[in-house]
Amino acid sequence: MTSAKDAPTVFIVEDEDAFIEALDIGLQREGFRVEVARDGAEALLNFETVKPDIILLDVMLPKVSGTDVCREIRKKSQVPIIMVSAKGSEIDTVVGLEVGADDYIVKPYRLRELVARIRAALRRSSLTQSEIDEVGIGTVRVGDVQIDPEQHMVTVRGTVTKLPLKEFELLYVLMANAGRVMTRENLIDRVWGSDYYGDTKTLDVHIKRLRSKIEVDPANPVNVVTIRGLGYKYEKLTS
Ligand code: CA
Repeated sequence: MTSAKDAPTVFIVEDEDAFIEALDIGLQREGFRVEVARDGAEALLNFETVKPDIILLDVMLPKVSGTDVCREIRKKSQVPIIMVSAKGSEIDTVVGLEVGADDYIVKPYRLRELVARIRAALRRSSLTQSEIDEVGIGTVRVGDVQIDPEQHMVTVRGTVTKLPLKEFELLYVLMANAGRVMTRENLIDRVWGSDYYGDTKTLDVHIKRLRSKIEVDPANPVNVVTIRGLGYKYEKLTS
């Protein structure tokens, strides 16, 4: 099957032949170009040549692990990365998200689910320019919320909203990473510091307060969403 020149390229980094074969056929049928690397070293070696639009990165790989590949690629590129983990290796998934992966999927998964995740990740990355506008130094705008760290000012649907320091910092970290799952550990590290040993409920309480100030309906949040078992994500909203 021939695919159009502008078809998005999915870089599959995977060592199991059965998976590679199924993905190659399935993803081409869905209109993607497919490139394959069979271990972590090959992935890093060929990354620049392949110029992928998205990477599907297995966690358990020969030579260089998926999380190390992710860490290396993040030093030079913001290309969307979906980590693929086997059932029971959720720890690796968390590490993957902490080193910059955008999303994860657990084997075995359905092709339909994978394609939906790929399309969502591509949509988010293509929205980066228009949806997250850098308005002045450090200011981030996502959808109807804008945060300016220099003026310590948050504007929600046109109205200036006052936030206490930790809520402000939490919102800034979430918005600057919009579209990406932030683990609870990562958020606590970045807002309260890595030497923080307090109750992790603190984070949930702050999230709740934040929602009451920025969400249209705090009981059904659409800006700051909960990712069960992992953490939170600031959604890049599209209307
Ligand atoms: Ca593997």
